[in-house]
Amino acid sequence: MKPKRVLITGAAGFLGSHLCDRFMAEDYEVIAMDNLITGNIENIEHLLPLPNFTFHHQDITNYVHVSGDLDYILHFASPASPVDYLKIPIQTLKVGSLGTHNLLGLAKHKNARMLIASTSEIYGDPLMHPQTEDYWGNVDPVGPRGVYDESKRFQEALTMAYHNFHGVETRIARIFNTYGPRMRLNDGRVFPAFIGQALRGENLTVFGNGKQTRSFCYIDDLVNGIHKLLMSDYSEPVNLGNPEEITILNFANEVLSLTKGKNKIIHKELPQNDPKKRKPDISRAEKILGWSPKVSRKEGLEKTLDYFNSLPENKLFKREH
Ligand code: NAD
Ligand code: UDP
Repeated sequence: MKPKRVLITGAAGFLGSHLCDRFMAEDYEVIAMDNLITGNIENIEHLLPLPNFTFHHQDITNYVHVSGDLDYILHFASPASPVDYLKIPIQTLKVGSLGTHNLLGLAKHKNARMLIASTSEIYGDPLMHPQTEDYWGNVDPVGPRGVYDESKRFQEALTMAYHNFHGVETRIARIFNTYGPRMRLNDGRVFPAFIGQALRGENLTVFGNGKQTRSFCYIDDLVNGIHKLLMSDYSEPVNLGNPEEITILNFANEVLSLTKGKNKIIHKELPQNDPKKRKPDISRAEKILGWSPKVSRKEGLEKTLDYFNSLPENKLFKREH
């Protein structure tokens, strides 16, 4: 029997590379696409020699061509870290709009089912807590984070329009903060930032008073959720995340106690529009997909720490920002 074919965009990034692993392990033919703007080819280097894996170095905001049949498209291409998308705001808006349009056109042409990586950021600085999928959000369109939030909101709207107007089979995953191996140590997100600082013996930089909260989901749980959503027949948005909420200050202390470092916590200015609270209501995912996260933050943190500890020293100390 011919293997099913899946196109994964953003394949050399953190989430995309783990999805490549999952679909390769399930004997799919994986067509990976990435322009490497924030990703790293090393994340999928182990897959490159395999016969069922092909890599296309392509910017998906340009016309996307894939020969042959396609069963699924997983659209994960987009800068995701605030540090990244503030540096490349126009590319961020283009990948969510033009890039998504190209892929929806491809899905329509190939009769493929397409899942988009949306985000908790579409809720902005939420006035509802925890956030359910029915909440419309509190986003400043012209604030610094607007380039990401509005790109993702437009992505959802376009996807729903292709579903309703053209009958394309679509799935919308609203992903909350996810962490794990292959995050870039210097991508600016709090998880790799604190771990990197702890391992280098530097002070941990808590932005603001650290009372803002996040809820962190381990990568393996997220990949399971994405897989279940893709295989479901549900086309409304679904929150995927771990509802275990923690303040950033407590998280910094957790990292310090695990790494047994003598480092201090220092405070830096809170970035503009930084959401004060974030926690997913995952009742919908539980009910419709039978999914909930299984990996505790302690276990996930230890696994992630092991990964960063295994990196060669020059990577640990390499800095881009
Ligand atoms: P990442 O930066 O590690 O990966 C994104 C990948 O997309 C990179 O490899 C990058 O090179 C690629 N890319 C960006 N623009 C592209 C373009 N125009 N053409 C082709 N490739 C392009 O980020 P990530 O954490 O893996 O996030 C992946 C997706 O999941 C993003 O869409 C992000 O918005 C979404 N998401 C992630 C999280 C999270 O916590 N990691 C949370 C919510 C949503
Ligand atoms: N943060 C921090 N120190 C850092 C990096 C981030 O205190 O070195 C804070 C940031 O202000 C935010 C939270 O950690 O409140 C999560 O930030 P991240 O960039 O990981 O993602 P966000 O959830 O804001 O998109």
